[in-house]
Amino acid sequence: MSHSYNPVSPEIVELLTQIVGAENVSTRAADLEARSNDQGIHPPQRAEVLVWVHDEQQVSRVMALANQQRIPVTAWGAGTSLEGNPIPLLGGIQLSFERMNRILAVHEGDFQVTVQPGIGYKDLNAQLQRHGLFFAPDPGANASIGGMLANNAAGIRTVKYGATRDNVLRMQVVLADGSVMRLGSRSIKQSSGYDLAHLVIGSEGTLAMITEATLKLAPIPSHFSAAVASFNSVSSAIEAVVAVRGSGLEPAALEFLDPVTTALISGSDGLNLPEKPTVLMEFHSAHQGHLQATLDSVREICAECGSVYFFATTNQSERLKLWHARHHTYETIVRANPGRKVSNSDVAVPISAYPILIDFIEANRRERGVSAYSFGHAGDGNIHVLYVYAGEQESAAAWAMNTAVVYKAIELGGTATGEHGIGLGKTQFMQSEHGQALQLMRVVKTALDPNWILNPGKIFVD
Ligand SMILES: Cc1cc2nc3c(=O)[nH]c(=O)nc-3n(C[C@H](O)[C@H](O)[C@H](O)COP(=O)(O)OP(=O)(O)OC[C@H]3O[C@@H](n4cnc5c(N)ncnc54)[C@H](O)[C@@H]3O)c2cc1C
Repeated sequence: MSHSYNPVSPEIVELLTQIVGAENVSTRAADLEARSNDQGIHPPQRAEVLVWVHDEQQVSRVMALANQQRIPVTAWGAGTSLEGNPIPLLGGIQLSFERMNRILAVHEGDFQVTVQPGIGYKDLNAQLQRHGLFFAPDPGANASIGGMLANNAAGIRTVKYGATRDNVLRMQVVLADGSVMRLGSRSIKQSSGYDLAHLVIGSEGTLAMITEATLKLAPIPSHFSAAVASFNSVSSAIEAVVAVRGSGLEPAALEFLDPVTTALISGSDGLNLPEKPTVLMEFHSAHQGHLQATLDSVREICAECGSVYFFATTNQSERLKLWHARHHTYETIVRANPGRKVSNSDVAVPISAYPILIDFIEANRRERGVSAYSFGHAGDGNIHVLYVYAGEQESAAAWAMNTAVVYKAIELGGTATGEHGIGLGKTQFMQSEHGQALQLMRVVKTALDPNWILNPGKIFVD
């Protein structure tokens, strides 16, 4: 099914200016170029006009106009996606939420906050600190809440607190025709009708524009600890991951790093870790004594699984040093490979299949001679493979390996993407992963956006 679109004429630019004001409309090359690409490796594409919205009514009026004129509209949060999700592939209007970034209400007694979508989650957490609360999903990059909702972002703390989807109660959205909908409620328990809020979460701006969200918050823990364990084999490392998860100790992070990645971040951050399969962990508690007892149990569990190195700390600077190294893994890999491209792919499998997938990645790396680093959120069965390449031959080998890894993850009962979304980079795997359900997704898309003006070219190969 193909859809036809109209270009943005000077008359349309004038109508957009009437809706949001001249200072919030730009056709300047520099503005369009700055938002023509995300942090991934997909080719850039400029929109025809950039519109900064400030409130829901403006979003509604822009959408109604675009729908009537058959102009594509692609949302822009902070542009930190990795699969080309916010690239305005067919030009049209780029709807930026950068200036729609207020906290609307902190419902402290309910552990909730209601926000506009453009707020960065790090900025949100900085402001929530004085309430003793935080929004737990943590993708690392300074993403906006709207982008996190649209991609169903997850991250290091998902193993304890869930992904973005698990931390949203209610949203307001604007559909393609400009109509405004409230989805869900502020009640923790909801079983009333279809769960449309969670349908929109993870839809990458292809079903609706998110204009407001009420998020679940968690109390900031009083005490934190970090632990790191090294093993001689991936299977021992994952045995420890499963044992720690199954122990009832409630890890707040459970990360795997392959030996190459461990050696790199260890060298760059002065950690002195053995070059072996490594598991990084974090635990939270209300009491220091409880935390120490937890770490003693974790040490025992890791020893039983064959750890050859173990280090645990409740010291804040040591803990931050460890997590700084993990949080900056991507940047460290980029710095270590000047002049080469780095592409970050993610897949996820049931945790029991994790060692099989890691072995598959290792074997492919060796056989194909591809430079690749693998690490990820092992507690969720999620792995990131960072491919490093230069020139056509290496690029082709990296992409062939990525394709094989994604199909392997699907074959193992997993998914083509645990948290980065489909965007442009994973569309080719949708049929294999979803089969008949892909057609149902098209039916849903057409029902909500009959003219396919919302972020066209993403999720589906059209
Ligand atoms: C170094 C690095 C590490 C990363 N690590 C992780 C990680 O651990 N976990 C993880 O999940 N991700 C990770 N990411 C990816 C990225 O940060 C997330 O996908 C994030 O959710 C993107 O948010 P954003 O605000 O940048 O959104 P954008 O990239 O601007 O947009 C993302 C998608 O949301 C749509 N969108 C934006 N706002 C709205 C709205 N208001 N309504 C409807 N649609 C909207 C866009 O059209 C696009 O499809 C990482 C990225 C980098 C660069």
